[in-house]
Amino acid sequence: MERSNVTPTLKSVTPGDIAMALPHRVVVDIIEGLESLNNVIPGVASDSTLIYAPEIKLYAMRLELDKTLKTRVEGLYAAGDGAGVSRGIVGAAATGIVAARNILENYLKTEN
Ligand SMILES: Cc1cc2nc3c(=O)[nH]c(=O)nc-3n(C[C@H](O)[C@H](O)[C@H](O)COP(=O)(O)OP(=O)(O)OC[C@H]3O[C@@H](n4cnc5c(N)ncnc54)[C@H](O)[C@@H]3O)c2cc1C
Repeated sequence: MERSNVTPTLKSVTPGDIAMALPHRVVVDIIEGLESLNNVIPGVASDSTLIYAPEIKLYAMRLELDKTLKTRVEGLYAAGDGAGVSRGIVGAAATGIVAARNILENYLKTEN
């Protein structure tokens, strides 16, 4: 870790060999996943890539939303993980776009 060119922002972790904590199958899956991802995002499988493990994710209960992600409260939209409609960066971004498009549509309606 001292020789790595990446400084971890999360300090409350212990650097170590995740192969000691996770089953072989999981470790192989992570390595293969990183190698595949490296074809799309070159550099992601670099020697300095940090992996936090085990990773525990907690998700909110899903809010009551219509398909444009509008809540029951007038003018209030909910998107992303907090609304329980995504579980990753791409999904969270996509739900943001869904809400933004509807907000814009409604805004344009009131403008005309
Ligand atoms: C350790 C870890 C690893 C992950 N790895 C991956 C991965 O490899 N690939 C992947 O796709 N996803 C990964 N995720 C999940 C991904 O980070 C989330 O799905 C994504 O960031 C959710 O985006 P979001 O915009 O919904 O919420 P967030 O990114 O959590 O954004 C919410 C924002 O709201 C702010 N906020 C909170 N309360 C308030 C308030 N009261 N007022 C103002 N602002 C507030 C927060 O500070 C934050 O900036 C990982 C998550 C974690 C924790």
